[in-house]
Amino acid sequence: MTDLISSIKQAEITHSLTESEITSILKDDTVNEILFDSADKVRKKYVGNEVHLRGLIEFSNICRCNCCYCGLRKDNSTAQRYRMTFDEIILLAKKAKDFGYKTVVLQSGEDAFFDTDKMCKVITSIKTLGLALTLSIGEKSYEDYKAYKDAGADRYLLRIETTDKNLYQKLHPSMSFENRIRCLNDLKTLGFEVGTGCLVGLPAQSDKSLARDILFFKKLDADMIGLGPFIPCPKTPLQNEKGGTLIKALKVMALTRLLLPDINIPATTAMETLQENGRLLALQSGANVVMPNVTDEECKQKYTIYPGKAGLNNTAQEYKNSIVKKIESLGRTISQDYGFHKKRV
Ligand code: SAM
Ligand code: SF4
Repeated sequence: MTDLISSIKQAEITHSLTESEITSILKDDTVNEILFDSADKVRKKYVGNEVHLRGLIEFSNICRCNCCYCGLRKDNSTAQRYRMTFDEIILLAKKAKDFGYKTVVLQSGEDAFFDTDKMCKVITSIKTLGLALTLSIGEKSYEDYKAYKDAGADRYLLRIETTDKNLYQKLHPSMSFENRIRCLNDLKTLGFEVGTGCLVGLPAQSDKSLARDILFFKKLDADMIGLGPFIPCPKTPLQNEKGGTLIKALKVMALTRLLLPDINIPATTAMETLQENGRLLALQSGANVVMPNVTDEECKQKYTIYPGKAGLNNTAQEYKNSIVKKIESLGRTISQDYGFHKKRV
């Protein structure tokens, strides 16, 4: 057995790898099948065969930020902007519940229109439906996060995007790496289930940097990790960059599963966008969550963080039918519970 294979096999039991081991595994594509197989075994042992479906509502694409990779960035004047009303959001949450989804994920650009009171009103109403609620609405103050928690929000997704501070600063004009970390720490302190993650294949991002991202997830003791390939988006400063590959994103995800064996990991849309059935490959390489989009057709078309997003031409009902079939074809089942992070000691 090569050293790398024995490191992977060892990590299946110890859930620990060094930065240099992770970097070497990321560099060497001859160990991919073994890595994916090990992550799949660890997923099965710790979180079982159930797949959690979380209904995604993209309720506003208006954003005050200028993240260089994202089509929703403020300076992209070609983006067609929309903002849902309170009633529209609640209607979609009810639709998600009717589909049998136990969690709703509310995602948006950083839209100041949704101030603390408006957000809390939405949160309270969704919680009366008996759903678990995840927020993915960006950087806020401790007080805002506390208000969301007090209103009943259960989880919060905020990707670190990259732990390379220099790269982070280059890609996020007028934002600070320190504030990103502060947000994640505040969310932890307040008792949210915290999700973070990174973009894979950013310009000048090395395998060593990705290894550090994975070790950061472990140090943060994250409850969920969502990651995917960076896909270049027209009308953004990174439009001519190469972008990430599905394989590298799957490798980062599989290594994350080895190191954080009991967390929730979604098979992301960006993976499916790069390759048909990318999401199924992810489910066989460590993932145990899928986030079907319940956003209505018109808004979904305008939530263009990158081009060619998978699922744009399917209705929510069609999407649900097809994903359930695919999941069952893998011998996996759809979870009937809320899918909170069940920590195993
Ligand atoms: N505004 C919130 C935030 O940034 O956390 C939530 C919405 S944002 C669109 C959700 C995620 O989309 C980001 O964390 C980022 O990783 C991802 N994203 C943005 N542009 C992308 C691109 N070009 N390729 C792949 N993922 C992208
Ligand atoms: Fe706005 Fe989020 Fe896109 Fe950044 S990644 S521009 S915060 S929507």
